[in-house]
Amino acid sequence: MNDTAAPLVFRGLPAAEGIARGRVHRVDWNVPEVPRVAVPKGGRDRELERFRRARARARRELEDLKRRTASRLGPIEARIFDPQILMLDDPDVVEGTRRYIAENRLTAARAFDWRMLELKDRWSRTSHPMVLDRLNDLEDLKVRILIRLLDLPDPWAIDGWEVGGIVAVARDLTPSFVALVDPSRVVALAADWGTRTSHWAILARSLEIPAAAGLGDITTRAEDGQAIIVDGWSGRVVMEPDAREADRFERRRAAIRGWRHESGTDVREEAVTVDGQAVTLRVNLDLPGEAARARALGAHGVGLFRTEFLVVGRSTFPEEEEQYRSYREVVEAFPSHPVLIRTFDLGGDKFPVFLRTPSEDNPFLGRRGVRVCPDEPELFLTQLRAMSRAAVHGDLRVMVPLVNTGTEIETVRELAEVAEDQLAGEGLPFARGVEVGAMIETPAAALAAPALATHADFLSIGTNDLVQYTLAVDRTNTRLAHLFDSFHPAVLRQISMVAGAGRAAGVEVSACGEMAARPLGILLLLGLGVDVLSVAWRSLPGIRRMVRNCRLDEIRAAAAAALEAPAGPQAKRDFTASLRPTLERLFPRGT
Ligand code: PEP
Ligand code: MG
Repeated sequence: MNDTAAPLVFRGLPAAEGIARGRVHRVDWNVPEVPRVAVPKGGRDRELERFRRARARARRELEDLKRRTASRLGPIEARIFDPQILMLDDPDVVEGTRRYIAENRLTAARAFDWRMLELKDRWSRTSHPMVLDRLNDLEDLKVRILIRLLDLPDPWAIDGWEVGGIVAVARDLTPSFVALVDPSRVVALAADWGTRTSHWAILARSLEIPAAAGLGDITTRAEDGQAIIVDGWSGRVVMEPDAREADRFERRRAAIRGWRHESGTDVREEAVTVDGQAVTLRVNLDLPGEAARARALGAHGVGLFRTEFLVVGRSTFPEEEEQYRSYREVVEAFPSHPVLIRTFDLGGDKFPVFLRTPSEDNPFLGRRGVRVCPDEPELFLTQLRAMSRAAVHGDLRVMVPLVNTGTEIETVRELAEVAEDQLAGEGLPFARGVEVGAMIETPAAALAAPALATHADFLSIGTNDLVQYTLAVDRTNTRLAHLFDSFHPAVLRQISMVAGAGRAAGVEVSACGEMAARPLGILLLLGLGVDVLSVAWRSLPGIRRMVRNCRLDEIRAAAAAALEAPAGPQAKRDFTASLRPTLERLFPRGT
């Protein structure tokens, strides 16, 4: 432990929940240098053959990784390797490399290196951050093939690593690496690049390995063996923690442990406040495999099932059957509760490569969410057909992202009716008239909530985007994290207005953004009148305990005071001060 120099603190993006302390192990899977070697006359066929064999070996390795991931985590997670497997046969990759070998007398390694550089350059020109995932896959594949062509050691091998307590620190991580990680030895991950939607981050969450992404330059500052703390809940990473940071870590870890796995909590206990007010606790899911685990923790339904896993990084359109099976798995896990499945929220930080959309200067203000629907009716029709079919198995509801107008809701409803008519014509079982609701994620939607409530069957506040668009602060920009203020008066007033609009229209209003993942955010939402919350599923036991230990009348009074505050920091101070006795009871000092 370092008690003299100030610890180095990095603020990144939370990528996988959890907190851990360990020792840095840098993972350098940099692309190897490819030597300039001339191919002797007549050596062309040998190089072509070497390339073919390297691809065949890469395919075997990736298929093996996919199989191992499927048995460890499930078939959906295993599909994360599909883009790389498909790239092995992509004519852009294969024919381009073969041409260089044949026409330019290059070694297989050099030809492949050139071709991949060209593709990377082409893909880097698009401004869709989603393409970064594709680039990451490309880089992963490039390293895999080059090390075989150059007879280099495997950079992913971790057999020689220390026994445990390893924090893998990398420029960027790859799904191939994370899939092989043993969580009993590698306690956390930290990367310069990446976001919560990176493929490696999705795998880290499934494996329950805490991770922080988007840390900027941690790889250049970290050295092997240094002590490090990774907080995957906040994205904060501390190098060489001093006594204060170490103490803070211990308290935070203890609080989170209690929060996540409340021992003795009975999952059948209702989430009812001390003054008898019932709160509905649903969960946010990213993958179907999480549904059963969330159910076991006592969730009363799903408030947000993100369906982007079906399209992100995939090279092909997701088939109806595959979607139907995924939706059905989630719905069947909750036989007596609502499951809100969101239609593909594409654009912004997520765009599937198969749509080949033109780049936009401002993707977060561009074709996003429901705006993509009229341009891609086939994609959405297929999704709505799969949803109508899965609705036979439970209370499935369709949730539409980034809505601004009633017309957008009606467009989706009409498409849902087309889907139903088609299914009826084909004689397939389906449920008619599934509910269609809107996410409230823009100030336009929040201010127009009374009108939207006349079109939508329910409203759900997406606080991540609502805060982003209200404050014009990019939610993925770690340098602006201090400006991303959920307590800003404009945010509080909108939430309160939307809750009021829902009550007046008799339409359910829930909340499903990250605000509903933190204790203070949850209390604030409850105080502002939102009593259906969709939370990070692993936090459910702790949140239920919190709800059962507080009084709604007190929380409402505290929120009313916060609503009057002139600025966010003041609102937060006022809110926390009014609830101090409750908060101190629930969260002992320092946690
Ligand atoms: C939100 O915006 O708050 C939300 C829940 O959706 P996402 O984070 O997927 O954009
Ligand atoms: Mg959103």
